[in-house]
Amino acid sequence: MKKPLDFNGPVHSDALWIEALNFVKGRIGQADFNLWLEPLKPSALQDDALVVEAPDSFSASWVQNHYGSEISAALQSLNPAVNRVIFIAKDSAGKAGQDASHATGSAQQNEPQIPAAASASTRRTGPGNNLNPLYTFDSFIIGENNRLAHAAALSISQSPGTAYNPLFIYGQVGVGKTHLMQAVGNFAKAQAGLRVVYLSSEQFLNEFIDSLLNKNTAAFRNRFRDLDLLLIDDIQFIGGKEETQREFFHTFNTLHDYHKQVVLSSDRPPKELKNLERRLVSRFEWGLVVDIQPPDLETRIAIIENKARLKNFSLPKEVAFCLAEKIEGNVRSLEGALTKLIACAGLYNKDVVDVVFTESILKDLFQNENNKPKIDITAIQEWVSRYYNIKISELKGDRRQQSLVLPRQIAIYLTRKLTGASLPQIGEGFGGKNHTTILYTCRKVEDKMSKDVIFKEEVERVLLKFKNDLNNN
Ligand code: ADP
Ligand code: MG
Repeated sequence: MKKPLDFNGPVHSDALWIEALNFVKGRIGQADFNLWLEPLKPSALQDDALVVEAPDSFSASWVQNHYGSEISAALQSLNPAVNRVIFIAKDSAGKAGQDASHATGSAQQNEPQIPAAASASTRRTGPGNNLNPLYTFDSFIIGENNRLAHAAALSISQSPGTAYNPLFIYGQVGVGKTHLMQAVGNFAKAQAGLRVVYLSSEQFLNEFIDSLLNKNTAAFRNRFRDLDLLLIDDIQFIGGKEETQREFFHTFNTLHDYHKQVVLSSDRPPKELKNLERRLVSRFEWGLVVDIQPPDLETRIAIIENKARLKNFSLPKEVAFCLAEKIEGNVRSLEGALTKLIACAGLYNKDVVDVVFTESILKDLFQNENNKPKIDITAIQEWVSRYYNIKISELKGDRRQQSLVLPRQIAIYLTRKLTGASLPQIGEGFGGKNHTTILYTCRKVEDKMSKDVIFKEEVERVLLKFKNDLNNN
């Protein structure tokens, strides 16, 4: 391990950055290093943070998410007065093209903005496809939670604009929507040389506003209408933005008319999008709507093992299990835990990490996870049987009486939605049913919810009440 730098005068951001890079260099693979870290330039020291410039806002937020905690840990070990790193887009403080040696030094002169303001800087990113080359199908782990979404994504990237147009992917945060969309973009670009653009709906909005201000809406329209594949992430954010919706509606229609593929993602299904014009909702439902559920334990283990492999980090099986078991639902949190573990393994010179070390490093994180109300099959079964006034044995049984079938379907559906248990585990918990029965039941509930509003409201009411009761206990 490197000796901490001995800074007796003002800390120099250049020197600190070079040392921090040396620190992480060995651990992240040459290709990733060249792609993401080499283009960065230290800009200034601001209080306890080193501010570093990235070529654009996409790289800034990507590096922040993927290497931020590792680099922050390295900085802190080099100089305890500096304990975090902030990445900003090069032009976000209005100093595009400025030489790095000018940018280095006093924070007061530069006052760079931190990434929270990055969306403003994306306004000037201009043309470019915004694709992250690491988000590919190869690095995407398929599990029960995303099987259909993955199959649909693969199918449209092989023959865009023909089968499902648009493809609408929804699911809660951190389940892999962005990764999958970008995989479609990377595949279509690399395999078929298609013209692809990926944008968050906020970027679409910002670029549209800029084009209005600069009176070059024609160029804006041409950029989007002259594409083979348009990927718009987190479409829920255009809710309430009427002008943008109108523009998007026309863009969508043009692309669709010419059989160009559109892929959209959102945190909820089209019907539940707030303040969105009806005609847009109906367009979104034209193609295929698929969801991604939180991954079950087996899939979480496979994801974390794969992430470790990509980072050249040797992760023992029992440590992967420990992480995946304790951090449920959001893959981003799981990845954050791995990044912290890798950083700390480096700082403590650990060649091999074990469960005891992992638990000591991540105890705060695990603590938070433990404090969340625990939802397991038994809790759901007890609650549902109380709610519908039936016995737990009846809930688990096979009797086809209508007064039992509905609660059973709902209990299975809630278990699938809320616990992250695998289909076989749920089958086991419901009296030893086959996993295909469980899958069939969940699909049946979803199908009925999409056709029968009263049933949908019933399920949603039960779900809400269950969550409320859980939080109040
Ligand atoms: P979302 O867009 O749904 O919020 P992301 O696509 O940003 O989620 O995923 C968060 C992180 O988790 C990313 O780094 C992504 O690579 C990873 N991830 C999620 N699901 C998978 C998966 N099935 N295979 C591999 N990585 C995944
Ligand atoms: Mg996303």
